[in-house]
Amino acid sequence: MHGARQPAAPHKRIRATVGFMLNLPIVFCLLPVTPANFDFHCHSAVSDGLLPPQEVARRAAGNGVDLWALTDHDDLGGLVIARETAEEAGMGFVPGVEISIEWRGVPIHVVGLGFDPADRGLSGGLDELRSGRIERARRMGDALAAIGIPGAYEGALCFVTNPSLISRAHFARYLVSIGIARDMAGVFQHYLTPGKPGYVDHRWATLQEAIGWIVGAGGVAVAAHPGRYRMSGSEMRRFLDDFKDLGGQGLEVTCGSHSPDQVMHFARLARHYAFHASRGSDFHGPEESYVDLGKLPQLPEDLKPVWRLLS
Ligand code: AMP
Ligand code: MN
Ligand code: MN
Ligand code: MN
Repeated sequence: MHGARQPAAPHKRIRATVGFMLNLPIVFCLLPVTPANFDFHCHSAVSDGLLPPQEVARRAAGNGVDLWALTDHDDLGGLVIARETAEEAGMGFVPGVEISIEWRGVPIHVVGLGFDPADRGLSGGLDELRSGRIERARRMGDALAAIGIPGAYEGALCFVTNPSLISRAHFARYLVSIGIARDMAGVFQHYLTPGKPGYVDHRWATLQEAIGWIVGAGGVAVAAHPGRYRMSGSEMRRFLDDFKDLGGQGLEVTCGSHSPDQVMHFARLARHYAFHASRGSDFHGPEESYVDLGKLPQLPEDLKPVWRLLS
């Protein structure tokens, strides 16, 4: 579905060291002036990805990504090594994170980009957010035990690579390993999504908190994979109204889970709201992810790419 369409024009890789937020302490970032292939959404083993951050960085560079953000769920622990490896590979790097929130009962993800990773408001908020995941995972284990699948919490822990970050993806990997379903998509469809037996409610961050942490740390907030939320058109517009009112500036238009129709739909919404557009594979691992790092269509040309806000 998503071809690896690269721009035909040769890309002049002029690199500049830019302090991109004058009001921050010393936050510098190596940004290509005109990135040809940016990927601002992916995961490492610091959250629920399968590869360590340095391997994700090398894979991105090998795939031709020239401006890259690692966006692990609710955790900044991979950013130092990710930046070092990106710079060794000659690839621009932007600090990133994907924050789990709940808005009017709907679980939503907000990507933060270009913030100061040392900011205590952001890191403290994320510490608290992660601490709720263990208790939620235990409840997921109980819920699965109640339908005859015992030991799922302990089983999921065997797949966890960061003890403070257990996600539904770890449960899904465990459930596939014991033959409950053939693949991750099947597990999510039958067990781990709202209304299914292994899904439990959880109090995530609020939209206001997540945007406040990101913007307070000098970053840009982007609404992640909007096509994945179960919302009517009017609910989506109400969400985007709130997102913008609270300081959100970006919308993921091209991403690993969007169909071409969804790309066009969210491009229209980005124009309507004057959002900057982001592009991200949401890569989790070579065997799992349908879209590899950087291997997705370019943004529609008239949209303002979100990297412009970072330099
Ligand atoms: P959590 O943050 O614990 O709610 O887990 C969410 C994660 O589960 C996502 O970031 C994906 O890694 C994974 N996920 C959610 N839905 C699916 C799906 N349908 N297929 C595969 N993985 C999914
Ligand atoms: Mn994930
Ligand atoms: Mn997500
Ligand atoms: Mn993601």
